Amino acid sequence: MMLNKINSACSLASLFLLGTIFLSGAIFAQELERYEFSEEKMGVPVRMILYASERQVAENAAEAVWKRFDELNSVLSDYDPESEIIQACRQTGESNDFVPISDDLRKSLEESRRYCELTDGAFDVTVSPIVKLWRRSRYFHKRPPEDLLAAAKENVGLDVWDIDERGVRANEGVRFDVGGIAKGIALDEALETLQKAGISSALIDASGDLRIGDAPPGKQGWTVGVASLNDEPVCYCELSNVGICSSGDANRYVEIDGVRYSHIIDPRTGEPLTRRCVSAVIASTATTADALASALCVLGGGEFLNAVNRVKSSGLSEKEGSFLFEFMLVQVKNDSEPPYSDNEIVISASPFFQEKISENKKNSQKR
Ligand code: AMP
Ligand code: MG
Repeated sequence: MMLNKINSACSLASLFLLGTIFLSGAIFAQELERYEFSEEKMGVPVRMILYASERQVAENAAEAVWKRFDELNSVLSDYDPESEIIQACRQTGESNDFVPISDDLRKSLEESRRYCELTDGAFDVTVSPIVKLWRRSRYFHKRPPEDLLAAAKENVGLDVWDIDERGVRANEGVRFDVGGIAKGIALDEALETLQKAGISSALIDASGDLRIGDAPPGKQGWTVGVASLNDEPVCYCELSNVGICSSGDANRYVEIDGVRYSHIIDPRTGEPLTRRCVSAVIASTATTADALASALCVLGGGEFLNAVNRVKSSGLSEKEGSFLFEFMLVQVKNDSEPPYSDNEIVISASPFFQEKISENKKNSQKR
């Protein structure tokens, strides 16, 4: 596997890496025109490219999308103490009873729970108390105290919370962090909002996590460059009607006593990942792709395949019609620093990505 060499690979966010997208498409095709909008939403830059019959239609649709992002942020934000998710956690912890929740929160927590079950706990939004301890570590450059870590681990797992028609119930001390799935959820909602406004040909890019609708007019798909631990795309894919999301520890990590701790936690041990990695997952929705891209980093290629098969047989494929599901995981073998040589990295990928990677390698050898 040939990776181009760069000096600053680890200073780039994996999400940004995937965000190196290269868009093709006719500027004018049929009677549709290309419009582009961008705003900062959910703490990241969001870019939207869409084809519409006239400017007003495009602008109204974009406004509706930004409004939807804001609504979801007020429900799901981990940083806003007034967000519904934080308030609901606090209330149920205090009352030790179910508290009613909005449809948006219900859907988000139900999806989160489902991916926790399907990944055997590798994706788990109750990891929040541990994430918070390690966030402080990034500031102090010290491992969290072991007693605090042990206490935080008590509040992680499927048995510390529940959700049903009454709402959500969680033990005192349980906190949800939906940072590993929220962008995917918002991206799916964004595309749905555009579709309701009559726009089907669109791409929404939340800092490298993408939701893609119909292809640009006259094209087979949107050409997306997928980056690895490098700023050069490792392959290109022509995509339509999928979500493609990335995860990894390219720039969110802390180094303590020579060990590099990622912002992604293995909920089963309470420890952050220490092996450098970047993942990319293509699925029929961005929600699935986002959750599974995070889980892929935790599980590694082998265990992840089992999870993929569980997801596929969970009824998702039937429910969502044509179900496309592909993954790529690039891991660094040891403590080597970038630029990485071919034998310093391991790539696990589904056949689709393997083919795209070798195509790209052949093309770059020709150049
Ligand atoms: P992503 O970039 O989608 O992989 O999301 C990473 C964020 O998800 C982190 O910053 C944490 O807030 C949260 N997180 C970390 N580890 C996990 C995990 N194992 N399961 C679910 N969420 C996680
Ligand atoms: Mg994710």
